[in-house]
Amino acid sequence: MKHQQPPRIVRADKMPVNTPEVPVCIVGGGSCGLTAAIALRTTGIDVLVLERDESGTGSTALSSGFIPAAETRLQKSLGIHDSFQLLIDDVMNKAHGQAPLHLVKAYVEATTEAIDALEKMGLPFEIVDGFLYPGHTVRRMHTMPEKTGATLMTRLAQVANDLGTDVLGQALVCELWVDAQDHVLGVGYQRPDGTIEHLSCQYLLLACNGFGGNTDMVKELLPEMANAVFAGHQGNDGTAIQWGRQLGLQMGDLDAYQGHGSWVTPQGALMTWAFIMEGGVQVNALGKRFNDETGGYSEAAMHVLNQPGSIAWNVFDAPLLKLLRSFPDFRDAESAGALRTASDVASLAAMVGCDVATLQSTLNEVREGHTDAMGRSFTRSLQAPYHAIKVTGALFHTQGGLEVDAQCRVMKINGQTLHNLYAAGGAARGVSGRGADGYLAGNGLLSAVGGGWLAAKDIARHFQTH
Ligand SMILES: Cc1cc2nc3c(=O)[nH]c(=O)nc-3n(C[C@H](O)[C@H](O)[C@H](O)COP(=O)(O)OP(=O)(O)OC[C@H]3O[C@@H](n4cnc5c(N)ncnc54)[C@H](O)[C@@H]3O)c2cc1C
Repeated sequence: MKHQQPPRIVRADKMPVNTPEVPVCIVGGGSCGLTAAIALRTTGIDVLVLERDESGTGSTALSSGFIPAAETRLQKSLGIHDSFQLLIDDVMNKAHGQAPLHLVKAYVEATTEAIDALEKMGLPFEIVDGFLYPGHTVRRMHTMPEKTGATLMTRLAQVANDLGTDVLGQALVCELWVDAQDHVLGVGYQRPDGTIEHLSCQYLLLACNGFGGNTDMVKELLPEMANAVFAGHQGNDGTAIQWGRQLGLQMGDLDAYQGHGSWVTPQGALMTWAFIMEGGVQVNALGKRFNDETGGYSEAAMHVLNQPGSIAWNVFDAPLLKLLRSFPDFRDAESAGALRTASDVASLAAMVGCDVATLQSTLNEVREGHTDAMGRSFTRSLQAPYHAIKVTGALFHTQGGLEVDAQCRVMKINGQTLHNLYAAGGAARGVSGRGADGYLAGNGLLSAVGGGWLAAKDIARHFQTH
């Protein structure tokens, strides 16, 4: 469903007569919305999730579903030594110190609480093994056994349902009703036949993600990604930010985003960066490497887009193919015909369409104990037969959004928080600083799961004290 009119603010003293009321309304049933709903239901608070699709899937279901968390029960049981401070430092270092520290701290602690609680409710978390993403010092990516965001969403939806959460699908929230003091009264939502229905609520959580699917907003705010493929969910249409602009709310880091330099083209699938961290490389159509790939996959999107034809070739060998095949996204890309194999450098060069001597000299640099001119150190060389996959740079999701405090309450430009409006996940300001290179792998779900949990806890506190 698409907005018939741009999302709007309705100023009123009260909602229309006979408008039904719920204590808490959540806009968006992705991982953020469902995590918040679960946390609220465990304290017995009634909540209604309004979701534009038939059921919530969002970008979360398209993701790998890897959630970074420290000091979890699972990590401890596996003997993994991690700490909140270590994860906070990793997030801050990747963001060049520009991430809002109050949010980083709050998300880190809340995500651990959420994962431990969700595990008790039956989510079979595992820790991703075999490699570390750039910037992470220990193994802390919590995943479903299938390593997909889709299975994470299925399980969150099951728990939410078991706890009695009401989710109304095909309900596209298009109106935010507020009184003269910016107190939220409720929402209006569009049904498939175009009619608008209303709902009043005491608290509202915006969990409807960012603006990656809104071409005009991407052009305006992320011009460098204007022509990139958007790999996220079309529902990331910038609704929360459009309301924020109309209400004069504070925004943060609107130029920040998660890109990915390894989007398999033309098949359209994610090839995990694990192959880089374990020794693979990217070469352009000239057979040359163009940056230190171990810096991170997010900034790699721009590096790849800047190459001839906006493409690169991921080059790897047999041990890496084995690792890659443990990822469902890779298996999908392989089944779709993306994987190519070359018996020697000459056939690899023919595949890439480059000069053999150039490619040979590129691969000569990839050897144990060597550090190249771009600063990348290698621990092994690549052995024939070689494997290659053509990729481009993609936009995965936006990291800027509504400025929030450590409870996820949205803030006005003057720094005052709104009493009953919360934002979390991709709708709120993220923890990646500015641009693309501050994104630490997992910051998306750290904010969605941690933020949803935090907002719910704060809302629950109001019901308990009143
Ligand atoms: C290919 C890919 C791989 C990724 N892998 C990872 C990863 O492994 N780890 C990680 O941390 N991050 C990853 N990310 C980023 C991650 O997916 C997002 O940061 C995260 O899913 C955001 O969660 P959310 O709940 O805020 O948004 P979403 O999951 O997008 O949910 C938002 C929901 O709101 C609904 N909605 C939107 N507008 C409205 C409206 N007006 N009314 C009603 N409903 C509305 C949408 O339909 C949607 O269901 C990946 C992203 C992509 C694209």
